[in-house]
Amino acid sequence: MPRNLVVSKDYYSILGISRDAPAADIKSAYRKLSKELHPDKHKGDKEKEAKFKEVNEAYEVLGNPEKRKRYDQFGSADGPQFGGGGGGGFENFDFSQFTGGGFGDIFENFFGGARGGRRGQPDLRGSDVQLSLSVPFTDAVSGVEREISFETQIVCDVCSGSGAEKGSNLKTCETCSGTGQVMRTTNTFFGMMQQASVCPTCKGSGKVPEKACKSCGGDGRKKGRKTVTIKIPAGISSGQSIRIRGEGQAGKQGGPAGDLFVVIDVIEDSRFDREGDDIRSTAHIDLTVAVLGDHISIETVHGPVKLTIPAGTQSHQIFRIKGKGMPVLNTHRHGDHYVTVIVDIPEKLSKEQKRLFEELRESY
Ligand SMILES: [Zn+2]
Ligand SMILES: [Zn+2]
Repeated sequence: MPRNLVVSKDYYSILGISRDAPAADIKSAYRKLSKELHPDKHKGDKEKEAKFKEVNEAYEVLGNPEKRKRYDQFGSADGPQFGGGGGGGFENFDFSQFTGGGFGDIFENFFGGARGGRRGQPDLRGSDVQLSLSVPFTDAVSGVEREISFETQIVCDVCSGSGAEKGSNLKTCETCSGTGQVMRTTNTFFGMMQQASVCPTCKGSGKVPEKACKSCGGDGRKKGRKTVTIKIPAGISSGQSIRIRGEGQAGKQGGPAGDLFVVIDVIEDSRFDREGDDIRSTAHIDLTVAVLGDHISIETVHGPVKLTIPAGTQSHQIFRIKGKGMPVLNTHRHGDHYVTVIVDIPEKLSKEQKRLFEELRESY
C-alpha cells in the first residue's frame, strides 16, 4: 500500500520567477504579489487568501538561500541525497488522513529530516530515488493509483540483507575490535585532536560475518527491479512530487531504505486551460443566442454543465461556473470554471436571413 506521501509545490511558478532568478528578483516578486493578494484588500475572497498563503510559503523557502538550495536539490533530476536521515523525524502522512493545514508544515518536516542526519552513525541508509511520471489530465482531476517499476538496489534475497553467507557466524570486527568506532587523529588549529568515527568495516555494529554472502558480496543488497504502487491525489499539478518512504534504494547490510520521489508531469488537455485550481475555456455562441439568451452546454473537467446565457451577452464576456474547476489538493473543495464566450458573427446569410437583418436594421 502506498504510504507517507508528501507533495511539494513549484515555488518558482507560484512567484512567477525563473529557477535561476537572483535573490533580488525573488524579493521583488514576493513584494508585488503579497501586496496584490493581501487579505486586507480582498476581504472574504478565499481564493486570493489561499494564493496569498501560497506566495508567503514560497517566499519562506526561496527567500532563504539555504532552504532554496535544498529545494533546488530536491527538484533536480540527479536524485536527491538527503544524508543519513533514515531515522529522521518525518511525519507519517497519508493523503486520506491529511486534510489541509498548510504545506509549510510538511515542507518543514521534509527538510527537517534532511537536515537532521544521524551524526556519528553508519551510513547504511540507501539513497533516495527520483523518478518522473506523466499522468493524463483526467487522472489529475480524479486522482489515480499507478504502478511504477524501476531498477534499483534491492534487498538481497539470499541473505535477506544481512550480507552474511548462510550458516556463517558473526565474528568480532578486526578493524575496531568490536567497538564499532575508530579513533582518528587530526591536526587542527588547536593542535592534535582525537575524533571518534564509525568503523568503516562493520559500519558500527562491531561484528562482521565470517563469510560474506556470495550473491551480494556482503553488501546485503543487489541490483534488481522494484514495483511500487503510488497514489496520485486528485488536484496534483506538474512539478509536484510524491514521496514514498522506504521505497528507494535498499540500505546496506539491512540498513534503512532510501525514499522514492515521484515527480509528476500532468499532460495538458487542449480543451482546458488550468490556472492553479481554476479552469478556463472558451465557448462559441451564435449571434441569436447572445442577443436573445439561451442555455448552452459547457464541457468541464467534471463533464458537461448547463450554462445560462442571458439575453444581451457580449462577446468575450466571462462566466463563472462555481466549483467545477480542479479539485483542491487534499481538500474536498474545487476551484471554479471560467468560460469566455465568443459571439460568432455569421459570415454567410441566406436570402431570407439577409432580409430579416435588413428589416431589423430598419427597426433600429
Ligand atoms: Zn546477500
Ligand atoms: Zn568494526
